[in-house]
Amino acid sequence: MLIIKQPSAISEEIKRLRNNGKRIGFFPTMGALHEGHLSLLEESKKTCDIHACSIFVNPTQFNNPDDLMNYPRTPEKDLGILEKAGCDIVFMPEVNDLYALEKPFQIDINDLASRYEGASRPGHFQGVCRVVKLLFDAIGPDDAFFGLKDFQQCMVIQALVDQLHLPVALHFVPTLREPDGLAMSSRNLRLNKEEREEASAIYKALSQVKASFGKKPMGLILEEARASIEQHNHLQIDYLEIAESRTLKPFRENSTQSEPVVLAAIYAGDVRLIDNLLLK
Ligand code: AMP
Repeated sequence: MLIIKQPSAISEEIKRLRNNGKRIGFFPTMGALHEGHLSLLEESKKTCDIHACSIFVNPTQFNNPDDLMNYPRTPEKDLGILEKAGCDIVFMPEVNDLYALEKPFQIDINDLASRYEGASRPGHFQGVCRVVKLLFDAIGPDDAFFGLKDFQQCMVIQALVDQLHLPVALHFVPTLREPDGLAMSSRNLRLNKEEREEASAIYKALSQVKASFGKKPMGLILEEARASIEQHNHLQIDYLEIAESRTLKPFRENSTQSEPVVLAAIYAGDVRLIDNLLLK
């Protein structure tokens, strides 16, 4: 497994591989890897010859300096995990080296990015788009893999690729969960025992929404789901809403045109966890 720090070095290596007819799969991460990340690698193995991963904690997508500082970092362990899992290339750039290559671009993500994560974390998706564009420019993958756990992020990246006509095929990969349903996340490492136990209520609440959808009024479904979370001492709701999955506008009851998705961000102690479920 190659570990590359310089953007110019990865560009050259990928060019060499592509000249040899290889199809390049890429999945960006912020490290503290878990099996959810590896499911992106497994998906890459289905279509690509070479699998590249980036580990980069991107400062421009954090609006809260404490969150950036406390973000778990386990680089040695991550490299062991990737090597064992069959990753070919790991890109670990320095912030300054990567951002030195930035070329300004314009896209319109206001509609997609203004609610939910975008409302709670102003500037977050603009930072995500900046880093994904930089990583795509440096690596030039044929295929890129993102987790549906970050549902709104998937829609924003689709818009980035569509609006800039980037020559990359996007693949969105289902969320991998712990046995009790909690979505795997690097942030789970920061939960204490009680928070971890209570955090399983998030998936239960989303599943409850899915089971009741279409059978009860939407307002009541959301009320019940919120109440089932709020009964836990360590959990606090940031948002729990039903949206149209493509536009991410609030879902209109009885709409037959679009597919609903329930989106949630819940604090367990001071750790902010997100999850979602498609409702059809
Ligand atoms: P992160 O390191 O949290 O930025 O995540 C890197 C990529 O892994 C993103 O595309 C995430 O959506 C994806 N990912 C994170 N957790 C999971 C999970 N539990 N299942 C599938 N993909 C995931």
